[in-house]
Amino acid sequence: MHTFRHGKTERLRGRAGVKQRIRRLQAEPLCRDCKAKGRIIAATVPDHIIPLDKGGTDTDDNIRCLCQPCHVVRTAEQFGFRVKQTIGLDGWPIDQDL
Ligand SMILES: [Zn+2]
Repeated sequence: MHTFRHGKTERLRGRAGVKQRIRRLQAEPLCRDCKAKGRIIAATVPDHIIPLDKGGTDTDDNIRCLCQPCHVVRTAEQFGFRVKQTIGLDGWPIDQDL
């Protein structure tokens, strides 16, 4: 399942990536961080607990499903800085696409 390139796990792209994303969201449909705070929020992003850039693997045990705002916060934590959140017109933070 894994493609190793330059010693780093590459995430699946294209069709396979879409299928994998849907499967993971079905397995964990609620945001894990929100759930921990007693909030029931639909997850929209399967997030790597250990980022691929930091040696994490693209396997289900390295995945947690999050809502978009939690994903932005977690990504900022993982990369050691705080994202200056830009809130879009719909009231959601604009994805920084890190
Ligand atoms: Zn959340």
